[in-house]
Amino acid sequence: MTNNKCPDCNGELTKIILFGRSWENPLSRAASDADLSFYAEGEAKRSGLSGKFKPKGDVESFLCNECGRIFLFGTVK
Ligand SMILES: [Zn+2]
Repeated sequence: MTNNKCPDCNGELTKIILFGRSWENPLSRAASDADLSFYAEGEAKRSGLSGKFKPKGDVESFLCNECGRIFLFGTVK
């Protein structure tokens, strides 16, 4: 999938997790995190029943240790 080198600066790439965080309660600090690990078709609509997208494939994320650029790689199911 990747040769583990940044195409811009040739730095080492490290696997990371991208995630979103819901609103955080200022008192309890409670919040929900969801890792961003799927992608869907560009015109995908949420299911009327579940509210979820149908995944087209998985996403892997990598960070360049030198320049900080983040790379996303999709896999087809
Ligand atoms: Zn780089």
